[in-house]
Amino acid sequence: MQKIPYKIYLDEQEMPKAWYNLRADMKNKPAPLLNPETCQPMKAEELEGVFCKELVQQELDNDTKFFPIPEEILDFYKMYRPSPLVRAYCLEKKLGTPAKIYYKFEGNNTSGSHKLNSSIAQAYYAKKQGLKGVTTETGAGQWGTALSMACSYFDLDCKVYMVKVSYEQKPFRREVMRTYGATVTPSPSDTTNVGRQILKEHPGTTGSLGCAISEAVEAAVSSDGYRYVLGSVLNQVLLHQSVIGLETKAALDKYNITPDIIIGCAGGGSNLGGLIAPFMGEKLRGEKDYRIIAVEPASCPSLTRGKFAYDFCDTGKVCPLAKMYTLGCDFIPSANHAGGLRYHGMSSILSQLYDDGYMEAISVEQTKVFEAAEMFARVEGILPAPESSHAIRAAIDEALKCKETGEEKTIVFGLTGTGYFDMVAYEKYHDGKMDDYIPTDEELEKGFEKLPKID
Ligand SMILES: *Cc1c(COP(=O)(O)O)cnc(C)c1O
Repeated sequence: MQKIPYKIYLDEQEMPKAWYNLRADMKNKPAPLLNPETCQPMKAEELEGVFCKELVQQELDNDTKFFPIPEEILDFYKMYRPSPLVRAYCLEKKLGTPAKIYYKFEGNNTSGSHKLNSSIAQAYYAKKQGLKGVTTETGAGQWGTALSMACSYFDLDCKVYMVKVSYEQKPFRREVMRTYGATVTPSPSDTTNVGRQILKEHPGTTGSLGCAISEAVEAAVSSDGYRYVLGSVLNQVLLHQSVIGLETKAALDKYNITPDIIIGCAGGGSNLGGLIAPFMGEKLRGEKDYRIIAVEPASCPSLTRGKFAYDFCDTGKVCPLAKMYTLGCDFIPSANHAGGLRYHGMSSILSQLYDDGYMEAISVEQTKVFEAAEMFARVEGILPAPESSHAIRAAIDEALKCKETGEEKTIVFGLTGTGYFDMVAYEKYHDGKMDDYIPTDEELEKGFEKLPKID
């Protein structure tokens, strides 16, 4: 039998030349974004005030199956792509499992995560439109970093609203962004109306993603030549991230490997949506079947315990309404250390697929996540991001089930990034000071009561 190499790399010619739009193969399309005032589907002209023109087209297009990747973006991708698909031989051995484990590693670039795949695309379209710059929010800092890199490449101005608690706790992330030329403002700030309002209502607040989004949107619509960009959740972001799944599938096909289980962590849903895209496409077309598992933190369980309903994407309620699994736009998760998984909602595409029964979701507690992270770091060498470690946890648990049953399943998971900027979290774990706060039903109910009433 052919020996599978440790790392399956594609060469440049084998890289995907087009993004795949999963929506084209969905029978039940994701619900449209609604204008919060009229509750009617957002029209392109309305969205173009906030987002770049071509990105709006991508956002609204449920039918075009492939979008060619512009040459300029392909050139940038070539600096860090194709990313390796790694056979986790050492992890398999450590677990003593007959399962075969593969991970797609997206942390091999300075931003340290998959987010660069979409930030470079969004910056490209902003530049093409002749804009001066873009605004955005960042929680843990990965998206802000990825966007700063992309903006500096295309010589665009970049304004980042960073959740205050991260701004203070993660000065190094902030400095990486400034190295790439971004302006970083702690949110909530007094530079926007919505920020001032939130500060007045909640003095001393350390901020949230939803709140930083509101500020970034306001900053974009109130300055000439600026648009707002978002690092996850939106359809366009899942489209760009399909490059992850297309590469994964090409690498597996090269060695005739068919996965049984595909696993990814889910914050807003972009890496998972990208990783599973071509596989889910086959599933939707009835060609193949895979088990697909979304993994979320027990402290922010939007798929596993949320409601499938229209909700605001941000705390300030300035953004369109999206139909998604949500915990309510005021939900602020307890201090867990996977910053990228703290969003209250989930991509409309993934929400629809989950509701239609095409994928599973589980939630895991953070001490279990760090236990898996540490084991992985010790045997596979890579120090994983806390977000990515949710997927590691689930992959390990599935591999251990195979050990019991003797099944030789093939498991593929997304290793979305590295955790060098998360050492405070690792420190808490090592010192036994990490807790596993899980919200009660009563607490979640409070968020559901405030969902906008739309049918
Ligand atoms: C942002 C982030 C995530 C979660 O975001 P998704 O949009 O759900 O993919 C996961 N892993 C890392 C390393 C991240 O930076």
